[in-house]
Amino acid sequence: MLKRIQLHWQILIALLFSIVFGITLPGYVKYVSWTGDLFLRALSMIIVPLIFSSIVSGVTGIGSGKNLGRMTAKTIGYYMITSLFAITTGLLLVNLIKPGVGADLGFSRAVEGLAVTGDTFGQTLLRIIPTNIIESMVRGDLPSIIFFAIFFGFFATRVEPKYGEPVITFFNAVFGIMMKITMFVIKFTPIGIFGIVSVIIAENSENLATIFGRMGIYMLTVIAALAIHGIIILPLLMKILGKANPLQHVKNMSVPLLTAFSTSSSSATLPLTIEAVEFKSGVSNKTTSFVLPLGATINMDGTALYQCIAVLFIAQAYGVDLSILQQLIVMITALLASIGAAGIPMAGLVIMSIILSAVGLPLEGIGLILAVDRPLDMLRTSINVWSDSCGAVIIAKSEGEVTNV
Ligand code: ASP
Repeated sequence: MLKRIQLHWQILIALLFSIVFGITLPGYVKYVSWTGDLFLRALSMIIVPLIFSSIVSGVTGIGSGKNLGRMTAKTIGYYMITSLFAITTGLLLVNLIKPGVGADLGFSRAVEGLAVTGDTFGQTLLRIIPTNIIESMVRGDLPSIIFFAIFFGFFATRVEPKYGEPVITFFNAVFGIMMKITMFVIKFTPIGIFGIVSVIIAENSENLATIFGRMGIYMLTVIAALAIHGIIILPLLMKILGKANPLQHVKNMSVPLLTAFSTSSSSATLPLTIEAVEFKSGVSNKTTSFVLPLGATINMDGTALYQCIAVLFIAQAYGVDLSILQQLIVMITALLASIGAAGIPMAGLVIMSIILSAVGLPLEGIGLILAVDRPLDMLRTSINVWSDSCGAVIIAKSEGEVTNV
């Protein structure tokens, strides 16, 4: 019976149940929270071997250095452009709506316990080069794993075929196996999501109304900007640049998008994103396995947009008028900060300290928006994943691929 209901409907039903359950029986969520932990553990288990094998197989599939250079340039170009679009939308709306003017500063929460990053962008960039790849894998440090995998894949095509071929076959096989495991884990998404979301709802159920009431305009500004980017700009880019059908693509992406929404983690969602873009939207493995892991780590349109609105909101709340030049600095640092943010819950909020210090705003400002970060994180993560997937289709089309969308 359950099998006949499509997976995305199962997930939506699970979401609905978890909201009702979390609100009505908050004391009992501890009995179901293990399903969420289990699901997240299974996804984490997949990520490192999947990303490594996926990138090696993708890079070796791309072939020559010239092709690899072209793919990299296109991918990074697309990611920069969409992030800039997102940031501009965010800045326009926050300047128009001014949600922070007259905001209640007494609502601020202490930011203790939040590991505010002290790294500069340069340090973050430097850390992409691993000093010990095994250690990076143990820590699950995705940028450095990706960096090494690209090198490894590239030079696997440069050694004598008798050495290169078995390695390439091996990693293609590992990738195939990891995708099979992914597809198995996907079946448990509704149960996992039920465990995750009912905990979030139960933890926040008491002050839900107050939080939303006081921070309503700020939240609406973020939601409106995310909607403009996700519903208008990205589909338009898909249509114009990729000559693709965004409606069909969004249907294909329903499971990863709902998972991104529920887990607030684009890294955890990555296996599901690869599955949907490759097997449903029909983008080749060569493209998905290169573009998507890179996107999950560096392309965060939703996060960049959110950070701009949040910083300007904080400035408005403290009565600080940011000049055009300072807003330009916010723009650039938001772009860099979104690249540096990991695909995990709250990463965007933590790394925002870089932008606040760049324009001289107090770091405590983060306390102002802490209470409503989770629901906004859910939404921005979905947009992050959506943008990666649109990028994969656009790049595939530009490479002359025939897809299903
Ligand atoms: N949670 C987001 C993601 O995984 C990052 C963020 O906090 O903005 O994509």
